[in-house]
Amino acid sequence: TTEVTSNFIRQKIDADTAAHKYQRDGLPSVITRFPPEPNGYLHIGHAKSICLNFGVAQSYGGRCHLRFDDTNPEKESVEYVNSIKDTLKWLGFDWVDAAGEEHLYYASDYFEQLYDFAEKIIEAGYAYIDSQDADTIRAQRGQLHEAGQNSPYRNRPVAESLDIFRRMKAGEFKEGEHVLRAKIDMASSFIAMRDPVIYRIRHVHHHRTGDAWCIYPMYDFTHCISDALEKITHSLCTLEFENNRPLYNWVLARLVEVGALTQPLPEQTEFARLNLTYAITSKRKLLQLVEERQVDGWDDPRMMTLVGVRRRGFTPESIRLFCERIGVSKADSWIDMSVLEQAVRDDLDEKAPRAVAVLKPLKLIIDNFPEGHAEPCKAPVHPHHPDMGERHFKLTKELWIEQDDFMAEPVKGFFRLFVGNKVRLRYGFVIECTGFDVDDQGNVIAVHANYFADSKSGTEGSNNYKVKGNIHWLSDASASPAEIRVYDRLFTDPHPDAGGKDFMQALNPDSKHVSQGYVENSIADAAPETHFQFERHGYFVTDRLDSKTGALVFNRIVGLKDTWKK
Ligand code: ATP
Ligand code: MG
Ligand code: MG
Repeated sequence: TTEVTSNFIRQKIDADTAAHKYQRDGLPSVITRFPPEPNGYLHIGHAKSICLNFGVAQSYGGRCHLRFDDTNPEKESVEYVNSIKDTLKWLGFDWVDAAGEEHLYYASDYFEQLYDFAEKIIEAGYAYIDSQDADTIRAQRGQLHEAGQNSPYRNRPVAESLDIFRRMKAGEFKEGEHVLRAKIDMASSFIAMRDPVIYRIRHVHHHRTGDAWCIYPMYDFTHCISDALEKITHSLCTLEFENNRPLYNWVLARLVEVGALTQPLPEQTEFARLNLTYAITSKRKLLQLVEERQVDGWDDPRMMTLVGVRRRGFTPESIRLFCERIGVSKADSWIDMSVLEQAVRDDLDEKAPRAVAVLKPLKLIIDNFPEGHAEPCKAPVHPHHPDMGERHFKLTKELWIEQDDFMAEPVKGFFRLFVGNKVRLRYGFVIECTGFDVDDQGNVIAVHANYFADSKSGTEGSNNYKVKGNIHWLSDASASPAEIRVYDRLFTDPHPDAGGKDFMQALNPDSKHVSQGYVENSIADAAPETHFQFERHGYFVTDRLDSKTGALVFNRIVGLKDTWKK
């Protein structure tokens, strides 16, 4: 189970439990819900809400509902619904509870009931039809420090409002001709309470209800009622809804008054949303990156969508660990991207098999090595887990090394290969660099060296060689070609969209590098979405869509250490 630190939420639940507030026959005393709108793919911020809602329910022996908040038909689709369901399961959560009962809901399933409830509050004098346009209504609702202005329709007779409402439903009017407003308080210090619109006309097709409806309820009316109908106890949402809480309570209280609902009612508690540096967590802006082709789709490994982080190679365990570490508080703050990156290192360090990969190959020729000889070498699959077995590979006269491990003109402090220097070939021999070949353009195309036959790793003689550099290598006999995609952060600015900045200006022009390299043969059959630590390079995963035996593709998840600089 995932234990998310959330003291103020636990305190509230503990107090409610002590007061037997939600003691109801056959129902757990903690029922939460995760209520995404299916208008985009989930992002890393949603993971926080999922871990919190499902985590709290789990730790109190309750349950958590998945509810699609699908009341804006224009922007919603089945594609998004399916992706959200997949992602939730991938993260390790389920809307099927411990007793095998399914708790998957759609706000659109309540359209009939919401409509009946709306009629009930109209009849009780708590709502009226306003026939002004949206701009006028907005202007009349006013600003924070001045009272709003009553609509001329505020005292419209109940029978007239009811009649128009029914005709709105029957499709007699155009969009914008009428709206239904709750009749609350135009002088309230909460703007949300100044006679909010609760129903509007939309002649659009809905992905589930088709053309059955041409009026759709607004969030503030739908959400609290959906919570109540599902017998939610604790409705956890992000801080921007704090000002809507009085409205949430008002709607439910009126429905109790008219006999449509009964106590105990759900209660809303707010928590701080996740803001992650170097990332964007707004579905609208993520969509813009996709539509303007700044990324290769919603699941581009640089995107902080959950399909993106999955494709990048983040494990569900690492995302849950991240959510545990950041906790849940009442104050908005920024979490550094390095916290997420460290979570995946900490998850994979103990479980990812090790392997050698040469990302940018350069030929090494060991001139004094016997022609045709293949020296067997071995290494553990995991340095702390001998039970994971051993890897075997052959060292030959010609090898692939990393371009970066050689310098024709070594800079100060460089202690790997340059002419005259000695390094160890990991798990193999010590070699001394003797020269290099260049092509017509002056590019280094091969490095020459001699080896010391008595220096093999694991033998007595190896102790006589003290070298600073220890580089990895692969021989053709033991290597498979692979495409390697090295990703970096998508933005160079830690707060790419803060304060209304244009985040498109903050794109990192160097966030994706693709190279053709080699990986050791022991992983040539790796299934899609298998995680490895490539020695000296970092954590990698076989791409879940593109990688196949014979055409391997690896994505870099993160480097071994936090070395990211601007
Ligand atoms: P967006 O602004 O990207 O459209 P949203 O909040 O409108 O996001 P919903 O699909 O309505 O997206 O979100 C479902 C749930 O996830 C809500 O309860 C919301 O509060 C929560 N959530 C969304 N973004 C974050 C975030 N950055 N941190 C924590 N919770 C979040
Ligand atoms: Mg929302
Ligand atoms: Mg939104």
